[in-house]
Amino acid sequence: AEEMMVRSEKMSVAGQLAAGIAHEIRNPLTSLKGFLQLIQAGVSRKEEYYKIMIDEIEKMETITSELLFISKPLTDNKRVESIDSMVEDVITLLKPQAGLKNIEITRNISGNYSVFCDRSQIKQVLINLVKNAIEAMDEPGEIHIHAFIQKQYVTVDVIDQGAGIPEELIHKLGEPFFTTKQNGTGLGIMIIQQILEKHDGELEIQQNESKGSTFRIKLPHMEQ
Ligand code: ADP
Ligand code: MG
Repeated sequence: AEEMMVRSEKMSVAGQLAAGIAHEIRNPLTSLKGFLQLIQAGVSRKEEYYKIMIDEIEKMETITSELLFISKPLTDNKRVESIDSMVEDVITLLKPQAGLKNIEITRNISGNYSVFCDRSQIKQVLINLVKNAIEAMDEPGEIHIHAFIQKQYVTVDVIDQGAGIPEELIHKLGEPFFTTKQNGTGLGIMIIQQILEKHDGELEIQQNESKGSTFRIKLPHMEQ
């Protein structure tokens, strides 16, 4: 057993992913098969089963599209981009979803900061962070995005007023498929970390003194 533990600790990221994918896809498939067999046997309540089956299929769709995103190599799409305009795009995109929960997204960007990056990938990082912030809040409130310069980094804080993260779970964030959500995929933070790595950036997670948590990303600042 000891040897097995050492081995599983050494499982490569690819291995962990493969095991996770197999598990995440097998469960919905098993359930789909079960419901099809029930329907084939001529049960009533078909409508209810169809709904569950569609949910399961949607879950597999989400997982596969997020995985496709990871498997895409980072092509040479790096350009000089402004953090301000990327944050603005992301706020525009997620405002409706926040609005449904009476959450206001505010920002304070104290300058025009440039980073050399793949715009769609850094937007994906910000989208994943703001989505998590929205999902963590079950009361109306504010998500604040604050960008500033710290040493050689453009630093962007996404500050929410959500439930926060239990201390003992912090080290699990970023593990493939780790989720505490009913419909989560547990791939969002891993994708963030992979993209940041390719940009010589970093992710830091902190609990707020008041309610909620702060997810901080750091990207090398391009001075012009
Ligand atoms: P998913 O959102 O699909 O669950 P993520 O990788 O994006 O996957 O997040 C993993 C887990 O990290 C979440 O299920 C949640 O428990 C925790 N988490 C992420 N962001 C926050 C946040 N802003 N506040 C509280 N918990 C968070
Ligand atoms: Mg997420």
